[in-house]
Amino acid sequence: RPHIVWFRDDLRLSDNPALTRAASSEAPIVALYLLDEETRRPLGGAARWWLAGSLRALEKDLRKRGIPLVLRRGPAMEHLVDLATSLKAQAVFWNRRAGADSEADEDKSLVGALKNRGIDSAHFQANVLFSTNDLRTNSGAAYRVFTPFWRAACRLSPERPLPIPKAMSGWEGEISGDILDAWCLRPTAPDWAGGIAEAWTPGEEDAQRRLQVFLGHPVLDYAEGRDFPAEAVTSRLSPSLRFGEISPRQIWHSVKAAQSSGDIPDRAGEKFLAELGWREFCHQLLAAHPALAVRNFNSDFDHFPWAENEVALARWQEGRTGYPVVDAGMRELWATGWMHNRVRMITASFLTKHLLIDWRAGEKWFWDTLVDADPANNPAGWQWVAGCGADAAPYFRIFNPVLQGEKFDPDGAYTRHWVPELALLDKRWLHHPWDAPEAALKSAKITLGQTYPSPLVDHSKARKRALASYEEMKRAR
Ligand code: FAD
Repeated sequence: RPHIVWFRDDLRLSDNPALTRAASSEAPIVALYLLDEETRRPLGGAARWWLAGSLRALEKDLRKRGIPLVLRRGPAMEHLVDLATSLKAQAVFWNRRAGADSEADEDKSLVGALKNRGIDSAHFQANVLFSTNDLRTNSGAAYRVFTPFWRAACRLSPERPLPIPKAMSGWEGEISGDILDAWCLRPTAPDWAGGIAEAWTPGEEDAQRRLQVFLGHPVLDYAEGRDFPAEAVTSRLSPSLRFGEISPRQIWHSVKAAQSSGDIPDRAGEKFLAELGWREFCHQLLAAHPALAVRNFNSDFDHFPWAENEVALARWQEGRTGYPVVDAGMRELWATGWMHNRVRMITASFLTKHLLIDWRAGEKWFWDTLVDADPANNPAGWQWVAGCGADAAPYFRIFNPVLQGEKFDPDGAYTRHWVPELALLDKRWLHHPWDAPEAALKSAKITLGQTYPSPLVDHSKARKRALASYEEMKRAR
């Protein structure tokens, strides 16, 4: 009788407690992946692209070890239980999903349904560093502020990652399942994913490679350089963490090992681990607040007078707002399925504060276009920027997109790359081309309003309007 390993957001063989547990006896293993778009939020386009590549890589890695990967579509209560029953499985193992406290009920029901059929099961923590139960405030609640959360977390030590199990055998019988290509996770006509395919290789092997590249040098510049999008010193591990091709424990212990051996200074490593800490923070927030993607964390914002503005939303989505660094970010996102963190903050602030568009519209767009679109980090990031989140940026701190561009892309390398129609403009005007003298525009072959849009809104007017809306919300609450 086989063991079933149900893969979810943990598309890897190493540091996979469910797989290790399944391999701990001689029972043959069947791997299962369920595409559940009925009981879970359907993935966006870019994340579906990533999933296709990641499943293909997983299938290959499992096949090398003789283990079949069965694909089925639909909720676990139906398909997992059906497969386990029809194979007369001994046991089913899975890893809890990050932010999974809200899913604890589903896990419990599955364990019950399997038990009723005489099938054992067990689930494990694998996709976060710390269990939310180990991290509570003195009153037993989830943390709402990052700094004390992370201080408490750093007193704990994450378990050591597990190696790939050495001895594993696969189930050799026939099992019906779907064919990956039939899920059409990747676009064909039109194939808009060319830039994404150029930028990324999904799968466990490439995730480990990216970690090694990062620890080889970029990490040394991380603390100083991480806010500068042209410098490319961040790890780019986000889609791999999202789909569990690499575990946070593997990252944590690799960084600690590099620190102990003196390969990287403490400060660089700690700054990076603190960002991993934000991921943990967002996941414990989601666990405590399952409606994070739809409901304002701070309910005062239920009274915020958001504007309906389809035209402005479309211009933001297309990267045609007339603010160069905003447009650069939105175009990077569209072309590669990823955007640098600093620019995510600038573009999100522009949508919610300059255009007064509800953060949920931005969250949805990012959900559809990011390869790392994450159920915890994405809504938490949006709510943080919009001012309605836990430990959020104060609403009245409104990013000035010109100053942000000048500060974080001072030479304009990032902006010129993604907004090539401004490539020839002198850096004095690059982040505010509307102030450039006619001659400067002419020699850079720019006609505002034609070759590059005029600004959608005036910064100081938009800032005043946003602050007035905030006051209106305060009066209405
Ligand atoms: P690094 O700087 O190398 O950081 C390492 C890892 O730490 C990241 O891969 C990520 O898992 C985690 N991390 C880093 N910064 C944050 C953060 N601010 N919040 C939570 N986790 C963090 N991140 C996502 O993974 N998915 C999302 O859908 C997502 N949406 C966002 C939306 C907005 C509006 C904002 C402001 C941020 C969002 N982030 C999201 C967080 C952050 O921008 C990305 O994690 C980061 O840019 C990924 O690049 P990296 O892997 O090179 O990061």
